[in-house]
Amino acid sequence: MHSPKRTIETDVCVVGGGVIGVAHALAARRRGLGVVLLEQDARAQAASVRHSGHLFFTALAGADTDAVSLAPRELWLELARRCGARVGRDGTIILARSREELEVMEAVASERPGRARMLTRREATALLPAAGDRILGALFGLTDLLVDPRSITAALTRLLANDAQARVEFRAHVHAVGGGMVQAGPLSVRAGNVIVCPGAEDHGLLAALPAAEQLVPETVQMLRLARSHPLPAAITTGIALLEHPAFAEAPGAEALRTRLELERPGQVEHGVAPLLAPLADGGLIVSQARSPARGRAPFRSERLDALLLEATGALLGCDLEVRERWTLRALRDCADPAGAQDFHIRAPESGVRVVRALSQRALALCHWQAEKTLGELLDAPAPPTPPVAPVLTVTDLRAHADAFRSRPGRSV
Ligand SMILES: Cc1cc2nc3c(=O)[nH]c(=O)nc-3n(C[C@H](O)[C@H](O)[C@H](O)COP(=O)(O)OP(=O)(O)OC[C@H]3O[C@@H](n4cnc5c(N)ncnc54)[C@H](O)[C@@H]3O)c2cc1C
Repeated sequence: MHSPKRTIETDVCVVGGGVIGVAHALAARRRGLGVVLLEQDARAQAASVRHSGHLFFTALAGADTDAVSLAPRELWLELARRCGARVGRDGTIILARSREELEVMEAVASERPGRARMLTRREATALLPAAGDRILGALFGLTDLLVDPRSITAALTRLLANDAQARVEFRAHVHAVGGGMVQAGPLSVRAGNVIVCPGAEDHGLLAALPAAEQLVPETVQMLRLARSHPLPAAITTGIALLEHPAFAEAPGAEALRTRLELERPGQVEHGVAPLLAPLADGGLIVSQARSPARGRAPFRSERLDALLLEATGALLGCDLEVRERWTLRALRDCADPAGAQDFHIRAPESGVRVVRALSQRALALCHWQAEKTLGELLDAPAPPTPPVAPVLTVTDLRAHADAFRSRPGRSV
């Protein structure tokens, strides 16, 4: 049966109901604008539910300034509070296992006073004893947050669904955007501004947009481990430093790269930089390893999983029970080999923006980017950000370690 044709008028139409699209729709509502969000599936089920939910503000370039580090965090905390989402404020511990790693971390910590600090060898091993003797110290990112990767996008979307000035249309595949109109089958949306957030997959729409550009897709593998690995914070190691320009350009990073290339060539080549993000049920999300096949790899690589599990096992020191394995499509900008850009933004015509996430920091920055996109589209400053919430303190860290040690079922 054919659905009847209908037309909706609104201020802003957002295409794509992943977290980036939802963030833009919420930013429009913060400015009091009417919004229609169109998502082709029955719910967001691509990258926005497959990431690790780790908001790595410490890894943002320029994270020593309030504007870069604290404002995106405040937006997240405000929206999480409004939608009732649980936010872990445990921070990130980056373990150093070599002098080179320590040197980079010390440089990063010194640039982020009050937001990151070095942990001594004793403090670090007390928090993660299984990582053992080889730990020389750690960088503790105090501002980093964790959200539940599986439910956060749906929770944010509910804010729109419950808002009389916003409308969310699922199963609305958009096939044309232009001239102030968005077409999704029988549904037409007439909007003053259109923001297209289609994610890494090209569902035919981008080819139809005049200014669409080729970005290289790549496939990333991730895992979920069973409950039994309670962690005091998100954990990663020095190799992750190379994945983020804010660290990879710090003094000593070249020496670190050279050492890691010698010691862990497979890991460096495939971007196997395990980041362990604790889930509320005690499980862990382990990201990530990059498929060697450029483009859309049709099959998972067992070798990459093995590398990822080996690196994770070295940190947790116990048997790992994998509960789920999945892939995630990401985009890499050929013009930006260092991966410094978090978003790829294009304006194919006046009043239209195409916003695509490029980095593993995109989730952390999504609300901040949404404010910037709206500000630029409407040529109007953003509404004031909420007051700054306190970050972890050293006292918190001690309480944190005590709570961790006394957690039931702790197996590491
Ligand atoms: C391995 C990995 C781990 C990551 N982990 C983190 C992390 O821990 N922290 C962090 O800050 N960031 C992380 N990121 C980045 C971030 O999670 C993703 O970039 C982000 O989720 C992308 O969201 P999105 O909305 O752009 O894309 P998607 O989630 O793919 O959403 C796009 C939506 O648009 C819809 N759509 C597409 N075309 C159409 C159309 N024509 N009509 C209607 N709907 C359409 C799709 O159905 C989809 O639901 C990670 C990235 C990678 C690669």
